Amino acid sequence: MNYGIKSILEKKELDSNDIITLLKCDDEQAVFLFNSAANVREKYLGNNVYLRGLIEYSNICGKNCLYCGIRRENRKIRRYTLTKDEVIESALYAYRMNFGSIAIQAGENTSSAFVEEIENLIRIIRRKTDNKLGITLSLGEQDRDVYQRWFDAGAHRYLLRIETSSIDLYRKVHPDDRMHDYYRRLDCLRAIQDIGYQTGTGVMIGLPFQTINNLADDLIFMRDFDIDMCGMGPFIEHSDTPLGLNGTNNLFLRERVGLTLRMIAILRIIMKNINIVASTAMQTVDRTGREKAIMCGANIIMPNLTPARYRDDYKIYAGKPGYAEVDEDNISGLDLGLLPGISIGLGKWGDAAHFAARRSVSSD
Ligand code: SAH
Repeated sequence: MNYGIKSILEKKELDSNDIITLLKCDDEQAVFLFNSAANVREKYLGNNVYLRGLIEYSNICGKNCLYCGIRRENRKIRRYTLTKDEVIESALYAYRMNFGSIAIQAGENTSSAFVEEIENLIRIIRRKTDNKLGITLSLGEQDRDVYQRWFDAGAHRYLLRIETSSIDLYRKVHPDDRMHDYYRRLDCLRAIQDIGYQTGTGVMIGLPFQTINNLADDLIFMRDFDIDMCGMGPFIEHSDTPLGLNGTNNLFLRERVGLTLRMIAILRIIMKNINIVASTAMQTVDRTGREKAIMCGANIIMPNLTPARYRDDYKIYAGKPGYAEVDEDNISGLDLGLLPGISIGLGKWGDAAHFAARRSVSSD
């Protein structure tokens, strides 16, 4: 029996040392950690996993992040933007299939044509689905008034990963220029929250130079920021990026999966009622990585609904599944046989209970 871990898990609030101990726990102790996290999920949120049909709208990106396959300077990919009809068709498919919500993601583009097109798309999708389809955006850093326009058009959740909460590490994995400013990203996240979006952030796990202390700080950052949603996953080298030139090492990749599961479980324990994504990156490294993430406390899946012919061009990292994973008999793409007691929350937005709680406290 692992009394060390057990006594930490019984505490009301975990401090940095507690989190570090949990992150470093061995596989035997981890079983206990994972079970505790799954129990918290069940107690606070029940056993539903909610879906966000992912539409990868465009891979055109103005940024040049040293880890990302769609960075501006990667000339090996064909750049695309979905047509209006393609986006609407994907959204309507999600609606017909009872997904409850979609997430529109793209590279970072601040042109007025892009901003306007997104605004139009949000309005059209809302109208064509009787306001019943939830809309999450993941469109990077924008001016506050752009976030406001998209919110007014009907988007209500925004996912902007801080990537790492450490300023030093942030500077090591991004070019050193005004386009890649940690404080700007943080200001964006604050604006998103202030406008009234359900606010999501997240980090990559296993970045070069990243330490366990950095990861503990990431979790504390999320708690202090009072986020409603989190998406995090293992860093996976992409050979056409500066941080991926030396390829990858399967052993390290597997370690990152174990660490990601610990991060998810600890986050569930310290932020009981937020939404946590079981990421596609987890599935990329481990075929059943998403199922494992759910058993460690995650409750959101983002099945890919991008039209098949564009999938290969949205390769943020190596090995990202390009095949159609959603079929009409199993729209989550999950192996439900591995998820006893879990059901898919069809036709519901699946908002973070945390958001409602945060709103009612702040309006008192
Ligand atoms: N530009 C948008 C969407 C970016 S892609 C935005 O900033 O929100 C979505 C996420 O993929 C990023 O936030 C990043 O955390 C993740 N990502 C990028 N490159 C990666 C890599 N090599 N391995 C794992 N995840 C990566």
